[in-house]
Amino acid sequence: MTCFKEQEKMYMIQMAGCQFVAGAKRALVMDLHRGRFQPVPVHLKELVETYNGKQLGNIYMEFDADQHNILDEYLRFLLKEEYIFLSEDAADAVRFIPLPLTTAHYSPADNAIIDMDAQSGFDAVQLVHQLTALGCEQIQVRAYSPLPVRELLALAAATTETVCRCIQFIVPYDDHFKTADWNRLFTGHERIGSITCYGAPGNSTDHYVEGLIPIHFIEQMITGENHCGIFHPHYFISNASHFIESHRHNTCLNRKIAVDKAGYIRNCPSMPQHYGHVSTTTLQEALNNPVFRQHWHIHKDMVQTCRNCEFRHVCTDCRAYLEDPHDGCSKPLKCGYDPYTATWTDWADNPLKQAAIAFYEIDIPCSA
Ligand code: SF4
Ligand code: SF4
Repeated sequence: MTCFKEQEKMYMIQMAGCQFVAGAKRALVMDLHRGRFQPVPVHLKELVETYNGKQLGNIYMEFDADQHNILDEYLRFLLKEEYIFLSEDAADAVRFIPLPLTTAHYSPADNAIIDMDAQSGFDAVQLVHQLTALGCEQIQVRAYSPLPVRELLALAAATTETVCRCIQFIVPYDDHFKTADWNRLFTGHERIGSITCYGAPGNSTDHYVEGLIPIHFIEQMITGENHCGIFHPHYFISNASHFIESHRHNTCLNRKIAVDKAGYIRNCPSMPQHYGHVSTTTLQEALNNPVFRQHWHIHKDMVQTCRNCEFRHVCTDCRAYLEDPHDGCSKPLKCGYDPYTATWTDWADNPLKQAAIAFYEIDIPCSA
């Protein structure tokens, strides 16, 4: 078993992509380059952050002899996971600069949601044209009634040769839709990122275009916008751009624009305030309204409970469904995690959330 004390001249250097976040009970370590994260003791975070760039000999001197076994164990773990490396060269400590927490954006809106149902009277293709002209890179179309193939084709075609990198569809399951229809949809529409078909007979995933485009079939029914905003570790994101954004901006609503199924422009289809109807207001005009951006800057360190959660920089946020609907910095309603005990429970069963569930008229709470 390695005893690092014998490598006393070596410097411990934290990898730039390794980031620690302290929570109320434990910490999280993230590998932003590999997209991984895992809970660790707060002491491990303190060890790396306190002694980053120091020689192992000096680190061991700071601890009593009976703690050296634990120190060995921590260092073995950190090296195995490649959160740190050892170097003979002191200059490496300054060469590996911390991750800058700023980023440049060139478009006023980079992600969008368009909701549609059988009564939606607007031209969704025209909205996609507006979005791509604004520089929108990710568009999600959520249909609450069947969307004919020709409409799916037209929406996908509207993203071709534009700045849009990904268009996702959430549509009701339709057993008339055959493999040939999917192939027709994907041919020449390389911006399609994924399709989710809800209300399917079972849960499964098919892949098309040499495995690049997944079609998710899920049994769950999605009957409206209030199915959004659920928190689960499956949805956590560990990468540099999410990490950077989460320090200063809201990780759901920042530079998001949406059109609800009735055609009103909102921050997201579930937010109460609208900024005009698409029949009389362009998306650019809505974005020009300074009030439209008020939620963009509510980040996790401002949100109750989340600010003490070790997951706050891999989690997204929700400002539409809150534990306290009258407090804009309240914890998201649909999260069942308690960072003070490090346990998950079903948010919908929590007696303290029942008043908010009734307030938002969420009649069929989904399991967290
Ligand atoms: S704010 Fe909440 S409801 Fe709106 S898109 Fe984000 S997660 Fe969904
Ligand atoms: S407490 Fe907040 S940061 Fe933590 S998992 Fe829930 S929503 Fe995310």
